[in-house]
Amino acid sequence: MSLLSAGLLSARYSSARQLSRTAFNARKISTTKSRPPIAIAFDIDGVLKQGSKVLPEALQTLDMLEGNNQWHTKVPYLFITNSGGKMESERAKDLSKDFQRKVTKDQVIQAHTVMQSLARMYADKPILMIGGPNLPPGGCRSVLESYGFNQVYTAFDLHAYAPASYPYAAPDPEQQKAVRQVDFSKVQFEAIFVFHDSREWGRDIQYCVDVMRSDGGVFGTVLSNKELLNRKIPPIYFSHGDLLWGNDFSVPRLGQGAFRFALESVWKQVSNGAELNATTFGKPEQLTYEYANELLHELLRHTSEDKNLRVSPENVWMIGDNPASDVMGANGFGWSSALVRTGVWTDDQGPPAHKPTLIADNVQQAVEQIMKRTWN
Ligand SMILES: [Mg+2]
Repeated sequence: MSLLSAGLLSARYSSARQLSRTAFNARKISTTKSRPPIAIAFDIDGVLKQGSKVLPEALQTLDMLEGNNQWHTKVPYLFITNSGGKMESERAKDLSKDFQRKVTKDQVIQAHTVMQSLARMYADKPILMIGGPNLPPGGCRSVLESYGFNQVYTAFDLHAYAPASYPYAAPDPEQQKAVRQVDFSKVQFEAIFVFHDSREWGRDIQYCVDVMRSDGGVFGTVLSNKELLNRKIPPIYFSHGDLLWGNDFSVPRLGQGAFRFALESVWKQVSNGAELNATTFGKPEQLTYEYANELLHELLRHTSEDKNLRVSPENVWMIGDNPASDVMGANGFGWSSALVRTGVWTDDQGPPAHKPTLIADNVQQAVEQIMKRTWN
């Protein structure tokens, strides 16, 4: 078992303990041999919402999963999104409001949620956190701390410690109250976590390169390229790898995947061709699906009389709008996948690059088809 998988399981068990307190617990799922259990993972944007607007069919669809269907059978479900920047409990609150029902944090997987699986490895080791919303000051750090990382330092901390390390901007006074005053000549960074999309590429690329080239992870030291060859470069973890993402602007914006390409390119130049020691989470990475699969089974077990109930992989469905993320990830993990026409993929683009199990006009039609093909 890899360290990541071991961490994943420990995160799973702590999550399972919390499940007993969820509202979902009150509901029971009755399934029979002829009606095998189904479990569903939803992408959010382009499936249940478009920007800030909740799609009208979303609410009926979730009603169906809660038993309002011709078989009177409930289906466990959760949400997998590459967005993030806040606690899962806060995201669950937002979704509860959007979908007019109780959504628990155990039903929410954000891009960085799976970073919890690294807490065993790095609980008491210094890590440099990059990216994520700047406000509220210290907010992103507190999310990582809630995952069990006890020595999280930010780009704001480094900038306040050594303003000349990024001379093109002054340290942000608004962040001052959240900055940790530390003597970084005594801190040995073990890893870099790109928690969410960088808000300041120039500064953040500088600090990633600084830590990767440092002597023993100490900020302000540097190894020669020859010395670098014999050293382990501190690993960098990206919470997702999306090149582009959409917002209210007319053209898609550059995402964390683009930041990674920029960093990789600069790193190659300054290190004379070295590779990043990188791991990426989020969709379509398999670690995220592994995590979701465990959570769905916990949801199923806690909502069923049969504590050994398993869903066969073909009855676990990812419903999404993006073939390169939702469908590719589900197919790679052996789940079934449904592609909807309410988001980034449209028929005029031609057949999707990753073939889904089914294509539907919208999420409600997808769930109807899934139930019919499984239970009729
Ligand atoms: Mg989407």
